[in-house]
Amino acid sequence: MRYISTRGGMEPVSFSEAVMTGLAPDGGLLLPERIPDATAELDRWKGLSYPELAAEIVARYADLPVEDIRRLVRKSYQCFSTPEVAPVVRVKAIHVLELFHGPTLAFKDVALQLLGNLFEYLLSASGRKLNILAATSGDTGSAAICGVRGRERINIFVMHPHGRISRIQELQMTSVTDPNVFNLGVEGTFDDCQGILKAVFRDLDFKQEYGLGAVNSINWARVLAQIVYYFYGAFRVMDSTGASRVRFCVPTGNFGNIFAGYLAARMGLPVGALVLATNENDILSRYFSTGVYSLGEVVPTVSPSMDIQVASNFERYLYYRLGEDPAALRELMDTFAKSGRIETGPDEDCLFVSGAGDTRATLSTIAEVHRDSGYLLDPHSAVAFYVAGQHLRPDEPMISLATAHPAKFDQAIREATGDDLARHPALDELENRPTRLDIVPASESAVREYIVSHVAPVERVRAEAGFATP
Ligand SMILES: *Cc1c(COP(=O)(O)O)cnc(C)c1O
Repeated sequence: MRYISTRGGMEPVSFSEAVMTGLAPDGGLLLPERIPDATAELDRWKGLSYPELAAEIVARYADLPVEDIRRLVRKSYQCFSTPEVAPVVRVKAIHVLELFHGPTLAFKDVALQLLGNLFEYLLSASGRKLNILAATSGDTGSAAICGVRGRERINIFVMHPHGRISRIQELQMTSVTDPNVFNLGVEGTFDDCQGILKAVFRDLDFKQEYGLGAVNSINWARVLAQIVYYFYGAFRVMDSTGASRVRFCVPTGNFGNIFAGYLAARMGLPVGALVLATNENDILSRYFSTGVYSLGEVVPTVSPSMDIQVASNFERYLYYRLGEDPAALRELMDTFAKSGRIETGPDEDCLFVSGAGDTRATLSTIAEVHRDSGYLLDPHSAVAFYVAGQHLRPDEPMISLATAHPAKFDQAIREATGDDLARHPALDELENRPTRLDIVPASESAVREYIVSHVAPVERVRAEAGFATP
């Protein structure tokens, strides 16, 4: 399978290059040249274990030896606390697909464990080294660190706004003291961190000299890894209910998770609807009800990983929405950059529907579900559960995605229920671990100097010698 840019300005590249490149040189996002049709495989795939199914799906998109794919996938999901990886639990009328059984207790582990293994595999094949630079407001940083800790050919530098993330989130990162992990507490906001990240990546010479790479949610391998649990969850629920079609409800921020569901449906999984759920930051749910995508202000909520206005993966969906026409997409993205507003009209195939749940609805859903069924939802999963309840259909069971363990957001749980109900041994244990954190000023030059003083420059990488660096 080869990969193209949504903006049409790049020769098709291999899977390996797509994974190492991240963003296309023309500013677009990478997509497979075509979406493979898996309709004929569904009967066989139903009986597979999670790692077996993951290997089958990854093999449809990655031109790597099948044995290597199997090994990479097995290794990636070994560290999950259940062999099912993504179990389904029935809560009232809804089937909850639990995606938080990875090492950092958020769904980002599903993709970042595989990405870490893929990086290591591709780097050892090419003899290269990679220095990952990332900015995080919470969940992504710890999952990315966990995906690459202890690996020989990779260093990771993660910036977070010092003192502005939760204590648990900070400990999940700073308690990882492997020599290849560098935590930078930036004296500023998350926007400062992202600004520094963008500025450093814009310096192409520096990027090349230090072999800089990215792990943000636009990396194709992250989307790919997420396709798997849509199939896995649908098979479990079709099996337990006898239904021939399911719907999904997805708590959405950067549109990465639900976009994987869109691809699963396009591959032939019988999906009746993809319900997009947002909190007060509802640019996407407004788009799917009105066909207008227009920028607002970011409002902080109890589901912080969904506090996003510009959803970085949305461009991938727009590419298909515009009939795979890169020129039309470029025009639309230009319009958005200039005016903060675009309009496509309502979606004709009607796969997407949407809804929003504000902080009040989130907290009362957590309290109600816990009171009625003894099940504890984290605030992100509660937004989805709330919106899912408004889109139930008797003939199509609803699968609502649970993206974090409630113990990661213990304060919201306390606020919702009045009790300290959300604990997890892996988080309790963090309190006594040694930590490592360096505080740096919110300036590009400080971060750059930090990187320079902590790694030796890698050999200059020429594009024609193999991978373009991300
Ligand atoms: C990242 C995240 C989300 C949002 O997922 P997107 O792929 O950005 O739409 C939802 N919930 C949790 C807990 C997350 O960490």
